[in-house]
Amino acid sequence: MQSVIQNIRNVRQISGDAMFMAVVKSNAYGLGLVEFARNIEPSIDRFGVSNVEEANKLLQNGITKPVHVLAPYFDDTVSEGIIPTIDRIEDLRRYDSICELKGYHGRFHLKINTGMNRFGLEIDQIDEFMRVLQNCSHIAMEGVFTHFGSTYAKHRKFTRKQWMRFMFVKDLITMNHSDPLIFHMANSAACIDFPESRLDMVRIGNAMYGFQSASTDIGLLPTYHIKANVMSVRFVSKGDFIGYGCTFKANRNMWAAVISFGGYDGFGLSRQPKSILRDIYHRLFPKPKLFIHGQPVTPLGNASMTYIIADVSHLNAKPGDTVVIKVDSILSLKETIERKYVI
Ligand SMILES: *Cc1c(COP(=O)(O)O)cnc(C)c1O
Repeated sequence: MQSVIQNIRNVRQISGDAMFMAVVKSNAYGLGLVEFARNIEPSIDRFGVSNVEEANKLLQNGITKPVHVLAPYFDDTVSEGIIPTIDRIEDLRRYDSICELKGYHGRFHLKINTGMNRFGLEIDQIDEFMRVLQNCSHIAMEGVFTHFGSTYAKHRKFTRKQWMRFMFVKDLITMNHSDPLIFHMANSAACIDFPESRLDMVRIGNAMYGFQSASTDIGLLPTYHIKANVMSVRFVSKGDFIGYGCTFKANRNMWAAVISFGGYDGFGLSRQPKSILRDIYHRLFPKPKLFIHGQPVTPLGNASMTYIIADVSHLNAKPGDTVVIKVDSILSLKETIERKYVI
């Protein structure tokens, strides 16, 4: 976890006094929600997840820092440690009665739509929202936020427009609200490339996991790797087929290793026929790259559910050897793959 902590430090260094929300939604981008969160808790200010279920999982496992649910959906399983997002007036009333029933003073963050058009209250509804809020005595607004629809590097004009709209919202709400509020909008890319967007808190996923989503290099470190084993090695004669479907024919004598990692573990849609959909899939989830003794090895034929067969003619691979697997997207990794956290 040292590299994750270092990445958090790098982001904190550029973002000054802004609070750091560690976005651990989607099972911590595939790395495993609870263990990951436990390890970084001392280094961050808040957690961000996408639903109440994930939030409760964190709280039930001893997480004590505030947990934000970033999507505007919540039900009566919310509890005091959870900060829901609200973007509809009717949800304000509903949250108020949940908190009244449960007997605690709830807080929430208001999400504003500044152009992404996924979630968020429209700007012209803010006045009414604030009026209704005044009649809700069991909840308080703690912050206001929005989310970028693109990166500063790719769509500078659009991103600046979202920023300007949010600055307008910030003034509008601050004028009519005496308590201090937490305003936030920056994800990793915005935080790194667009300093004006950092405001009171940055919401960081990609950069923490070591993924480069910004155009500026702040020295992010890779944070994980995947290991499998060589299960067996065999000699294959020139002209023989390897694997399912007779899709690979050896054009020379070769040594082939069976590796304990397959399609079900996240190797990709290798058994589908060639198609545009498959190409799109692999653009999103590139096939992992395999290394034995530090040298790249090439998969041969179709990956099966649990195994890959790879060409190891160029190295002296033995059963039991470690295979290091480099993936560009951890989200596609099967949950049952054991995750080990190196402190
Ligand atoms: C996922 C998400 C983030 C984190 O984005 P990264 O690009 O991974 O840093 C921030 N805010 C919201 C609302 C998100 O859904």
